Amino acid sequence: MRFDELKVIDPILKALDDKKYEEATPIQEKAIPLILERNDVLGVAQTGTGKTAAFSIPIIQLIQKIDGKNQGKPKLRSLIVTPTRELAIQIDESIRDYSKYTNLKHTVIYGGVKQMKQVKRLQSGVHILVATPGRLLDLIGQGIFNLNDIKLFVLDEADRMLDMGFINDIRRLLKLLPTKRQSLFFSATMPSNIVELSRTILKDPKKVEVTPVSSTAETIQQYIYYCNRIDKRDLLLYLLNEKIDDQVLLFSRTKHGADKIVRFLKKENIKAAAIHGNKSQNQRQNALKDFKSGKIKLLVATDIAARGIDIDKLQYVINFSIPNIPETYVHRIGRSGRAGNDGVAISISEAEDNIYVKDIQKLIKNKAKVVKEHPFPQTDKPMTAKEKKEFNKEKQKRKMEAIAARRKSRSGGGGRGSSKSKAKSVGNRRR
Ligand code: AMP
Repeated sequence: MRFDELKVIDPILKALDDKKYEEATPIQEKAIPLILERNDVLGVAQTGTGKTAAFSIPIIQLIQKIDGKNQGKPKLRSLIVTPTRELAIQIDESIRDYSKYTNLKHTVIYGGVKQMKQVKRLQSGVHILVATPGRLLDLIGQGIFNLNDIKLFVLDEADRMLDMGFINDIRRLLKLLPTKRQSLFFSATMPSNIVELSRTILKDPKKVEVTPVSSTAETIQQYIYYCNRIDKRDLLLYLLNEKIDDQVLLFSRTKHGADKIVRFLKKENIKAAAIHGNKSQNQRQNALKDFKSGKIKLLVATDIAARGIDIDKLQYVINFSIPNIPETYVHRIGRSGRAGNDGVAISISEAEDNIYVKDIQKLIKNKAKVVKEHPFPQTDKPMTAKEKKEFNKEKQKRKMEAIAARRKSRSGGGGRGSSKSKAKSVGNRRR
């Protein structure tokens, strides 16, 4: 369906035309009319479905109707809360694009950077605010602004919000919002705690659902390579040299693992950068910028940092470790083949992860093809429960040793060099 058939107003149609959006995506087709008719909406949709535009377009349209002709300082009419900084920035950029032919003002606030610029922009007045929960509550607590004029509230990525431990922040926030408001609630999954949360926010909502989380896009080809733990990096190099001719978003289970992969790739003269929660906002933005401009070949990300990264026409996703929650696999590979483009998702499974592959295959109904022809076949067997217990015990012991060595070196005992080399040798043994 075309956007003009959804009764989208001309200034927004013109902006969508500039973005070369020809047809509304299914979530847009369903959600836009419901939101324009002032319903609360419960949206079950993941990133990649066009959900940002599904709520941003009608929000801009409704506020333009209320305030478009007002000359005075803008009132804060809409609040969009989302879990990560990257996602917040991207939603704000979408709002900038879709509202460029209106006179609405918008801004974005998130933590990890100084607040001054954000405060100035807020004080000059905006109609639409995109925010992460911590900075939002912080600035409200400082009395910099309030939510008294909010007419439209959006809680985006609610499931991830709870995963990240934001439940108390959300409860605090709900107390600050006017009770008379329109609310939109988006989540990729709907476990019972999310359903419960949605009930505290929405009134008589209309439900819109697209692409249940168990379904992976038909346009994504999925492959699984089984190998031994020790060969994973070599297999990665083989894939990068022999099988992949484009940029890659690579997922690592841990932040530490992400950094290790980047160091390894750099040694192999492959340009890569990591994006995760221990990186500063600037480092993350630069990594994303370098990836988007093609300066680096690989962006290595953890799940939380990657959530919401929007990269046009990303073809390849690699799971360097298999996620232990099958739904995470669906989220990860959804980063490729976006908005109808073809994608390729490659997963590397070491013996210990084989069990997670089974769960994933069950969820996605065996749509991933196992590649048997490659130079690093899996010969390891998964550990028995007893071996695993021993392994974890030993791992924990080494971790404690490394922490103790680091503490000792900081307090001056043992000298920097000695403890550093000790920590390194522990790290090596662990691999
Ligand atoms: P989202 O699910 O909001 O993260 O959007 C995924 C991607 O689809 C973004 O790059 C959008 O710019 C793009 N997109 C959203 N709606 C449309 C549309 N109607 N036609 C083409 N691309 C779209």
